Amino acid sequence: MAERLETVRRRIGRACRIAGREPGGVTLTAVSKTQPDPAIEAALTAGQRVFGENRVQEAQARWFGRRAVHPDLELRLIGPLQTNKAADAVVLFDVIETLDRPKLAAALAAASEKAGRSPRVLIQVNTGAEPQKAGVDPGELAALVTQARTLGLRLEGLMCIPPADEAAGPHFALLRKLARRHGLTALSMGMSGDYETAIRFGATHVRVGSALFGERNAPAAPFRG
Ligand SMILES: *Cc1c(COP(=O)(O)O)cnc(C)c1O
Repeated sequence: MAERLETVRRRIGRACRIAGREPGGVTLTAVSKTQPDPAIEAALTAGQRVFGENRVQEAQARWFGRRAVHPDLELRLIGPLQTNKAADAVVLFDVIETLDRPKLAAALAAASEKAGRSPRVLIQVNTGAEPQKAGVDPGELAALVTQARTLGLRLEGLMCIPPADEAAGPHFALLRKLARRHGLTALSMGMSGDYETAIRFGATHVRVGSALFGERNAPAAPFRG
């Protein structure tokens, strides 16, 4: 694990240098979904502190106890969120990357108010307009940004998962353009296969699973596009 982490960090550093960016401007999110405890512990031992999960319940089981041991953890929700899980999500996560509809924005605002805890929020954009995929359509983004701000959500950026069968670059470029248009600075884009490309296009957060932990055997495929 320490070696894989080091390799990914080195490649992030190299991609930053090539792009003329500061390596500190890119945060590595280790996607720990479906990973067994020993793999999580190995990542923590190797110094990793930012983790991404795609299911609220699984993340609760994995991280509630570890919070006490590692107060400097940052937990990021990167999978679709149902409104009835919003209350649990705002208690556990530091960042929710998958706001994608008005009803969820309202649920997050209400849950944050009630819990007295407001995670930072990213809006997931369905840059490929794929019918089966989560994310707001680019044409509806402006309205959702306005709503999120009006509700007082701590909106800081955008996230996307490009279509699996297309070059990712144009999707990353679109996400960056949309973020600039709305004055948003965080860009969560790039996974194991394309995080260096994403850094070229301005990613501030890359979400890396299999390149760190090895291939997953559990069926996480639906969220990979
Ligand atoms: C699983 C997942 C990842 C990590 O994918 P890898 O290809 O294993 O790096 C990144 N983002 C999201 C939203 C995911 O669900």
